[in-house]
Amino acid sequence: MDHTAQTFVSHLECSLTGKTYKAGEVHGLSEAGRPLLVRYDLKAMADAVARTDIESSNVAGFWRYAAMLPVTKPENRISLGEVVTPLIGLEQSAGWLGARPGKVIVKDEGRLPTGSFKARGLCLAVSMAKELGVEHLAIPTNGNAGAAMAAYARRAGQRATVFCPADTPDINIREIRQQGAETYMVNGLINDCGRIVGEGKGPVGWYDVSTLKEPYRIEGKKTMGLELAEQFGWKLPDVIFYPTGGGTGLIGMWKAFHELKELGWIDGPLPRMVAVQAEGCAPIVRAWENGDEHAPLWQDAHTVAAGIRVPVAVGDFLIIRGVNQSGGFAMALPDDEIMATRDAIAEQEGLLLCPEGAATAAAYKRALSEGRISEDDTAVLFNCATGLKYPMAAVDSHLDKNQPVEYGRFVQ
Ligand SMILES: *Cc1c(COP(=O)(O)O)cnc(C)c1O
Repeated sequence: MDHTAQTFVSHLECSLTGKTYKAGEVHGLSEAGRPLLVRYDLKAMADAVARTDIESSNVAGFWRYAAMLPVTKPENRISLGEVVTPLIGLEQSAGWLGARPGKVIVKDEGRLPTGSFKARGLCLAVSMAKELGVEHLAIPTNGNAGAAMAAYARRAGQRATVFCPADTPDINIREIRQQGAETYMVNGLINDCGRIVGEGKGPVGWYDVSTLKEPYRIEGKKTMGLELAEQFGWKLPDVIFYPTGGGTGLIGMWKAFHELKELGWIDGPLPRMVAVQAEGCAPIVRAWENGDEHAPLWQDAHTVAAGIRVPVAVGDFLIIRGVNQSGGFAMALPDDEIMATRDAIAEQEGLLLCPEGAATAAAYKRALSEGRISEDDTAVLFNCATGLKYPMAAVDSHLDKNQPVEYGRFVQ
């Protein structure tokens, strides 16, 4: 059987109450106002698809896992040239981090279309929108999600409307507009943009693609977990450091690991999941430290790591459950430590992380020095976007072509 031509979705399920919803229909949040999760007939999937089918697939990027995703018709799989993102072991900077060379590995998501892992989730959301006949999408964004939605929506011939905080980096705003989205800057934070999108559903009729407010972005982010499993030879690393905003990736990977386990494709312990935030916006860390499952709005959120400046998350309890069930933890880092880490790894290793990715490296360094993880642990750090979209230090060394060059200055 051609495993790429079928899907095994059985139903959707409220992540809080377990109430079931029919697949093949347009859904937002559940009646309880919480995220809906896609559920599969994993027994039928296990009978029809084998790990070796995946390994021998010649499809590049995450569409190789189409059998584990909800899109039924191949023509609805929108693609902009996704790749399996590389694992890059830190070597020259390992000492600085306190690590053993090769034990700390970056999964570099900056190689995906639009330069961030938001491509995974938005590709799935847009593909499902196409499958379900939705023609107009709207999204609140700190930059990367809006860019990914704009790109995939245009690729699919859908209309895209994007709302971002007015202080979103200019390059992100321009990128969104350039890729054909109607783009608005709002004098507030991402949750204020989210309210505008939510309240517009009635009057405009657009589909709200906010983090976890539709069921499919999480299925796209799930592919990070599937990819990791395949790349690690169907064993998983000991610990995963994830820069947590809305938390889709952490929740999605945790979902992926359970599905893989139920399929019988992986065994052994699952990785410890570490939710990394910035000290200026750490609602999940605060709730986790207090032993709570829900994380109230964080006031006056600020951090250079724009992708994790998310003051309130509808999937808060799912993030915290994933962290706790995995035996992981949550930690927050100050901006100066985040940027110093980015600079050190770029200088020493030649690998330019985004600030959110640098936050995971800073968290790894601290967790190791505090004994929360061991240097024997294999750790994966998620670098969720290309470092090229973020401000870098200015360069101020000039040479005058009309003057003799002082070559002595180049000799060390
Ligand atoms: C969106 C984003 C995050 C946070 O991802 P979530 O899965 O929503 O928590 C982290 N880093 C970057 C670069 C992002 O764009």
